[in-house]
Amino acid sequence: MCGIVGYIGEHNVEDALINGLKRLEYRGYDSAGMSLLINDKIETVKKIGKTQNLHDAVTKKYSGGKGGVCTTGIAHTRWATHGMPTEENAHPHLDMNGNFALVHNGIIENYKNLKDKLVSHGYTFKSGTDTEVIVNLIDYLYEKDFFKAVAAALKELHGTFGIAVISKRHPGNIVVARRGSPIVVGLGTNEMLVGSDVSALVAYTRRVIYLNDDDIAMVKKDDVQIYNIDEVPVTRETALVDWDPGEIEKSGYKHFMLKEIEEQPDSVRNSIRGRIDFKTGTAILQGLNITPKEVSGTTDITITACGTSYIAGLVGEYYFEDLADIPTEVAQAAEFRYRNPILKPNSLVVAISQSGETADTLAAVREAAGKGASVVSLCNVVGSTIAREAGRGVYLHAGPEISVASTKAFTCQVAVLLMMALKFGRINRLSIDAGNLIADEIESIPEMISKLLKTKSEIEKIAEKYAAAEDFFYIGRGYMYPAALEGALKLKEISYIHAEGYHAAELKHGPIALLDEKVPVVALANDIPGKDKVIGNIQECRARKSPVIAVATEGDEEIKEYVEDIIRVPKTSKYIAPILTVIALQLFAYYIADKRGRDIDKPRNLAKSVTVE
Ligand code: GLU
Repeated sequence: MCGIVGYIGEHNVEDALINGLKRLEYRGYDSAGMSLLINDKIETVKKIGKTQNLHDAVTKKYSGGKGGVCTTGIAHTRWATHGMPTEENAHPHLDMNGNFALVHNGIIENYKNLKDKLVSHGYTFKSGTDTEVIVNLIDYLYEKDFFKAVAAALKELHGTFGIAVISKRHPGNIVVARRGSPIVVGLGTNEMLVGSDVSALVAYTRRVIYLNDDDIAMVKKDDVQIYNIDEVPVTRETALVDWDPGEIEKSGYKHFMLKEIEEQPDSVRNSIRGRIDFKTGTAILQGLNITPKEVSGTTDITITACGTSYIAGLVGEYYFEDLADIPTEVAQAAEFRYRNPILKPNSLVVAISQSGETADTLAAVREAAGKGASVVSLCNVVGSTIAREAGRGVYLHAGPEISVASTKAFTCQVAVLLMMALKFGRINRLSIDAGNLIADEIESIPEMISKLLKTKSEIEKIAEKYAAAEDFFYIGRGYMYPAALEGALKLKEISYIHAEGYHAAELKHGPIALLDEKVPVVALANDIPGKDKVIGNIQECRARKSPVIAVATEGDEEIKEYVEDIIRVPKTSKYIAPILTVIALQLFAYYIADKRGRDIDKPRNLAKSVTVE
């Protein structure tokens, strides 16, 4: 779930580890730790809370030097799944005999059975984690060969893991492996790094190898050998990371979230770059690898995703139905994977995940593929598991998203869904001219976003006025319904204020009972079809004394008479309006959370990439 980094080589090991952990901080975590191999002994430091606590403890411990040679170490940021966030439960974990140290992301589902078995062989445990069984199992199975012991242990595990292991009997080696949780090896000169995410390594090297599920890599400072779980050597391509480490710095912004909100003209520009063809009035999405015949034969689309990506999918549902005439439904991945999804031979499944590692979405992809459906993915992280398993799809190119609350990934997801719907629409029913109208709108998105961002100080003022409220409702219809859900989700995530997104017409079927003068309603009243009805719903809220903040189109004077405050967005068609509206609501949530002094980039209880069910 959380962060792994390992280093082997000639530079200062603890510096590389701390640097890597700090770059992984954005993933959300509750404790951190590291193990170093010093003079063939394993020394471990763990701290709860921020990686800075670990940094301070390590600096103090080694202020007089390390008293020996150290070339190898592993470190971890933990997001507790089994056992409280305590020092004992923080990683690395050592086996009972102190031979191995291991860090782990993920969940071992059969840890209880394994623990019972190890206890019956005399093993004792110090932590409440599932992770500690892995390292003891490795020790139990060890017969002089480090790699074979790890491979044998992994064969007994059920669940998900990305692991990195060191052994005092094998200094100069790190063994890493994965199943369902990413591991990447960074190739340096006379040094190697391992991590759960390239951002942990990118300050040291850009040449990386992404492991596949059930790969095990034996990493030395000048060599990497990769095997499958049956111990057969396998070759994996070396990839070049093409983004700059500077991109994951805050560049003067108070928070990554604000930086990422403001990056959206560029991130969307990158998403659409080279993908619009005005000659044919369509979108070119090579990675989809889909023939016109397959598109025209597609009977239905199921979009599956979690969280903000799910909400992007809801916008996509409108696009595919309005532009391509393809019946579409959006399924929460956690539901999809366990119910009996009805997939026909010509159904298409679209899986959306920023990280490409979301556990439920990955399982949904596997379920759909297992039923013979065609699957395409929309992921941001290149080489991520969902992208690789789907085999075809569209990368968002939003750049690294560090803030736990998603912003630019959402808008790029929506832009990519619109391009897909345009492509499918051109095949199914749209003329070149009709296609070009949509293409023009897509091309205009970055400029429209820039225009909207210029009004951020006005949004800040309105946010300030409502920052003390304890409950909010967000309402919208049609294309603005998903925007209402996303606006409420953003506010909840980062400000911890209770907020509910509702269809504007549904309010009176229950939640209207909660409205009074203390409950502001954010009403999405953009000048697109459905606006008049939203105005009716606004009146219903006002009649219950709720203050109403409208999101309305620039130049719409009429709205003034119905609401207390107005957040303006540039005039666009209904296709682009959800993108601009959501960005306005991202800013609104951001400023409220900032006024309330929240830990905006790392909100409590949340993790960036949710790799557990
Ligand atoms: N399941 C492990 C634990 O609770 C790993 C959690 C993580 O991925 O950070 O310690």
